[in-house]
Amino acid sequence: MSRIVILGAAESGVGAAILAQKKGHEVFVSDGGTIKDSYKAMLDRAGLAWEEGGHSEERILAADEVIKSPGIPDEAPVVRKVAERGIPVISDIEFAARYTSARTVCITGSNGKTTTTSLIWHILDKAGFRVGLAGNIGRSFALQVAEEACDWYVIELSSFQLDHMYDFRADIAVLLNITPDHLDRYGFRMQNYVDSKMRILRNQRPEDSFIYWAQDEYIPVELPRYDVAGRVLPFSDKQVSEAAAYVEGEDLVLPAPFDFRMPLSALSLAGKHNLRNAQAAALATLSAGVPPETVKAGLSDFPGVEHRLEKVCTVDGVHYVNDSKATNVDACYCALDAMTTPVVLILGGKDKGNDYAQILPLVRSRCRALVYLGADNEKLHSVFDGLGLPVADTSSMKDCVEACAALARPGDTVLLSPCCASFDLFRNMEDRGEQFKSLVRSRLY
Ligand code: ADP
Repeated sequence: MSRIVILGAAESGVGAAILAQKKGHEVFVSDGGTIKDSYKAMLDRAGLAWEEGGHSEERILAADEVIKSPGIPDEAPVVRKVAERGIPVISDIEFAARYTSARTVCITGSNGKTTTTSLIWHILDKAGFRVGLAGNIGRSFALQVAEEACDWYVIELSSFQLDHMYDFRADIAVLLNITPDHLDRYGFRMQNYVDSKMRILRNQRPEDSFIYWAQDEYIPVELPRYDVAGRVLPFSDKQVSEAAAYVEGEDLVLPAPFDFRMPLSALSLAGKHNLRNAQAAALATLSAGVPPETVKAGLSDFPGVEHRLEKVCTVDGVHYVNDSKATNVDACYCALDAMTTPVVLILGGKDKGNDYAQILPLVRSRCRALVYLGADNEKLHSVFDGLGLPVADTSSMKDCVEACAALARPGDTVLLSPCCASFDLFRNMEDRGEQFKSLVRSRLY
């Protein structure tokens, strides 16, 4: 038995606490903020000791090991003190993996994690695998390990989780892409963030697989620095000989040993970025042993994920699409690139140091008008007004949707893909997307 302290009592922390207790450890849960009632109830039901609104340092520093929620930065004073004492700090995924022999498909990347994780889960589930969906998405991995017996887990991993994973090993690892994000938590050094993402390769064995996007700016440059033990499966936009998945004419092709081919038109998700996600999912699920016919069926009937290029409805001939999850510039680029009609684009929110240069050409060529939605739209004015497009300035979703309806013409798409975090005006990106959807739908009547 060891003394385990859990920092952060949300989905991952509470799950880890329940598993740790079940495995006979002495457990204490500490949250500097307020714990949600539903999680308090879970902790109480399990008879676990917890505190909120601060950290009892003495008790925390007596731990043998600390499990930290990915939302708490390493620079938080309590985490610093723990590290200074030499107490190991691990992620909930690292901890839970010790107690399961299930196989894992782990997905990371700057963009596309949730979509690809859900798609892979959808295909494995369709194939009849006993499979759990975990990590940043769905229910806590640790809680599932504590309560259920799955043969497989599909796990979405953020860089923050990877930073505190040491012995964990992914049977199938997927690295979708690396583009600048979260640099505020990486000392504003891109290489630190890149190194974090590459940790997905740790501990892989020859029987494992590593799936990655061959055209990424960073991954192919980084790979030679690593001793990659598993089977390397790059996917590519182009038909190049070393690619394990590529596009040939109008087909998605995975050559031998997979011998898989399906028409692009049969994929359920639109856009080049989703084609990449589909390639990664096909490689992962075929590597896991799913029959090709089931992979094809799953790629064709996957319903998509809420807030990611989600079709809302068509009002007065105008299509409304909710891509509230586009909290960085790269995601908005992909969304614009997937559009087939003129676009009224909603931009704005809490800017994380965005460089909008990447989307300027697409905004110029695809957008009919721009609607800024934020507490402070100054930067958007200075970057985009020069394009000469009609522009509206708003600071509530209600005004924003009204402005969009006034600017759009029948056949256009109003796209909420704001490049920014939502915390200036909304609780989170889900709140932003939901407000958008309900205001748009209210125009139907
Ligand atoms: P994550 O979980 O990594 O944030 P999501 O699947 O939630 O990724 O998608 C986030 C945003 O990124 C969406 O707005 C989507 O349009 C965009 N996106 C999805 N897949 C990719 C990809 N492969 N490359 C770049 N952008 C993507």
